[in-house]
Amino acid sequence: MATATAPKPKTAKAPKVKDQPLLIGGKWQDSVSGKTFATQNPATGETICQVAEGDKADVDLAVKAARKAFEEGPWSKMSGAERGRLINKLADLIEQHAEELAALESLDNGKPLRDSRAADLPLTIKCYRYYAGWADKVHGKTIPVEGPFFCYTRHEPVGVVGQIIPWNFPLLMQAWKWGPALATGCTIILKPAEQTPLTALKVGALAQEAGIPDGVINIIPGFGPTAGAAISGHMGIDKVAFTGEYTTGQIIMEAAARSNLKRVTLELGGKSPNVVFADADLDAAVEGAYFGLFFNQGQCCCAGSRLFVEDKIHEQFVDKMLKKARSRKVGDPFDEATEQGPQVSQEQYDRVMSFIDAGKKEGAKMLCGGNRVGNQGYYIEPTIFDGVTDNMKIAKEEIFGPVMNILRFKDIDEVIQRGNQTFYGLAAAVWTRDVAKAHRLASALRAGTVWINCYDVFDAAAPFGGFKMSGIGRELGEYALQNYTEVKTVYVNLA
Ligand code: ADP
Repeated sequence: MATATAPKPKTAKAPKVKDQPLLIGGKWQDSVSGKTFATQNPATGETICQVAEGDKADVDLAVKAARKAFEEGPWSKMSGAERGRLINKLADLIEQHAEELAALESLDNGKPLRDSRAADLPLTIKCYRYYAGWADKVHGKTIPVEGPFFCYTRHEPVGVVGQIIPWNFPLLMQAWKWGPALATGCTIILKPAEQTPLTALKVGALAQEAGIPDGVINIIPGFGPTAGAAISGHMGIDKVAFTGEYTTGQIIMEAAARSNLKRVTLELGGKSPNVVFADADLDAAVEGAYFGLFFNQGQCCCAGSRLFVEDKIHEQFVDKMLKKARSRKVGDPFDEATEQGPQVSQEQYDRVMSFIDAGKKEGAKMLCGGNRVGNQGYYIEPTIFDGVTDNMKIAKEEIFGPVMNILRFKDIDEVIQRGNQTFYGLAAAVWTRDVAKAHRLASALRAGTVWINCYDVFDAAAPFGGFKMSGIGRELGEYALQNYTEVKTVYVNLA
């Protein structure tokens, strides 16, 4: 008789990490104050290591180093082709260290290792390669003007840029910010999120190894109201790029306005409508809506967190979705079978649980989930609310967790109107086999990205950003370059 052997769950080992300094002008050093903070493993709540805690004094030093590198250093004299070569080298080094970086990302953020490997790392590497290609293709125009003048424009780097990133996709957000900044010849002061500083620092070391000159990249881990505020209010920083909550975006924009009117780009939250019509390929729509909400523990600014399902297929749709959500494997990020890890922090865990409470109190029907998983770490069961109505808190505010909200609709005009009934405008999706209907929604929904019969498709070449309070400016693609350049007009008298 043949005996079947059950496959053993493969569990990779979480790496051990030393205490981390910050990076200014090519030197790894303690913060001026000597303070450090603990970064935690969200799977256990334990401290991974201490990290130098940057503050205004460190940002001041970083601005000096970045300004020097921008104005006097080898970077300022380097050709675009040479900058491109260095960015490509950085991409190669990230690729060579992909396994180590994926493990570090999963350790610090809690995302399943298989997601770090399959999504974060490849997208990060592609982003750097994409912008390496742009480095020698950033140029102005010649403009036919009246009179005996030759007129041309130059697209010059905006200067020293501050970049403040969140914790949900640390490596990728860093790549979205560094790619266009390095391609255009800017110099950088990066503040990673206090929850997830580790991969940013590792990539900083790889950038040095790639030969990116000292001072071009400075990394100041620390907290928002101290290090972050010092960046957004600094007179010596020419531009600030931010990804995070809209309320933080408002603070940053105000600080930028009150200091030196530095250029501001913001990629903020969303409450994206995901619309499933009765004529859609139902299985594909279920799969896409499931992925579009639960991916990354629901911690995506573009999560399809208002799932509009047409009345006629509501029951079938919900049955299929419930099966999937109930069988989702929640657990150790380093177990290769895990589909969902912990939320990033106690704070985020509490916040998501408070939304679940609000959903119950407001009378939405909780079909599954709603509880903590285990008794250590910040795990939450995949949760589905049905019978959600437009004015419930869970239908209006960004939850940033594994909580799906299903709303019903009857016809296309109604769903367009309700889909747009939000101050956000980051993304939207539509599932239908009717081409005309699909494009009508693509045009009518006020959002920076619309996915038709797909969700969460990203490419370094295609812009991403928000309408309305989801942001200002676009990241990725050629569009991102204009946020990192100033246009200079030059007239030459030919008379
Ligand atoms: P979340 O609440 O999800 O952590 P935030 O918008 O608060 O989102 O954080 C995103 C990034 O913004 C982090 O790097 C954080 O430290 C930073 N940040 C938070 N508050 C401020 C602030 N007042 N000024 C500048 N940066 C900030």
